[in-house]
Amino acid sequence: MPSVTVAADVLAELRRHATRVRCEVPLAEQCTFHIGGPAELYVEVASREELRQALSILRHLKLPCFLLGAGSNVLFCDHGFPGAVVRLRGQLAEYTIEGTSLVAGAGAMLPFVVKGAVEAGLGGVESLVGVPGTLGGALVMNAGTSEGAIGELVNAVEVMGPDGEGTTLSRHELSFGYRTSSLGGSVVVGATLRFLPSDRQALRQRVSALLKLRAETQPLGTFNVGSIFKNPPGDRAGRLIEAVGLKGHRIGGAQISPRHANFIVNVDRATARDVSLLIAEAQRRVRDCFQLELEPEIKIVGPQGT
Ligand SMILES: Cc1cc2nc3c(=O)[nH]c(=O)nc-3n(C[C@H](O)[C@H](O)[C@H](O)COP(=O)(O)OP(=O)(O)OC[C@H]3O[C@@H](n4cnc5c(N)ncnc54)[C@H](O)[C@@H]3O)c2cc1C
Repeated sequence: MPSVTVAADVLAELRRHATRVRCEVPLAEQCTFHIGGPAELYVEVASREELRQALSILRHLKLPCFLLGAGSNVLFCDHGFPGAVVRLRGQLAEYTIEGTSLVAGAGAMLPFVVKGAVEAGLGGVESLVGVPGTLGGALVMNAGTSEGAIGELVNAVEVMGPDGEGTTLSRHELSFGYRTSSLGGSVVVGATLRFLPSDRQALRQRVSALLKLRAETQPLGTFNVGSIFKNPPGDRAGRLIEAVGLKGHRIGGAQISPRHANFIVNVDRATARDVSLLIAEAQRRVRDCFQLELEPEIKIVGPQGT
């Protein structure tokens, strides 16, 4: 693992511009899987200016940079990340509702956005209730359910280019697919979403019903990152994994959830290697039985990953 020792003067410069800068931060603390070695640098920025300055310094250092949302869809490798993990806080995590639009920083937590929209009597985003990420992560992943995905609600997205300039991309300049978008690799700063005026009470009931369904079908309250694999066309990854007899299968501290076979749960200090072995085993068995290739939905971050 290559390691760049960040010089004290560079650290001091970063600390002058960013809200929080720490070295060798365990990534297990920063994701819902609770797995992963240290990030060489962990940087929190609370405004566009802080983000611009931090990215400029990191670029100058030639340190790889990873934009982290809430860490609810990532598997960090056991060796950690040889670079800087950057998180958006403060102003970049705020949202406001103006009429039927929501204007939000990419660091805004989706559960708060959903609650805010429902209480304002605005519909569209309530189907994402229970998705524990940030707006930025949701946009990059085009988070969604069988009821709809966030891309359908997007009016515009603000990204920051390598020169630190903000650019607003309108809806027709973006593309969203099944758990993917044209925003991968960009630095997403914020977005405007468009909602539909709806009956508040009906929205609240829908949210309750969707949360109840999640509680009945998903291993809530455990360390996991949601669905591990994308559903192949016309089928469900969970059904296929269950059909090959892997429900409940355990390697090291990682287990295919006995409740939902497309979830892997960190049951006892699992390593990224344990999870990767389970992923490979599920792919192998499904390939052998069904001649189907399961594609991971999660982002695997580290030397072997993205
Ligand atoms: C219990 C549970 C249930 C879930 N249910 C669902 C579900 O129903 N539907 C669904 O789609 N997903 C679901 N997920 C997965 C996950 O919550 C979503 O993919 C979520 O949108 C990820 O957001 P995040 O902020 O956690 O992103 P992260 O996991 O932090 O990052 C995901 C990707 O987005 C990138 N990214 C994040 N923020 C930015 C930014 N500002 N700029 C550029 N890139 C950025 C990261 O670099 C990474 O590539 C679930 C997860 C859990 C744990």
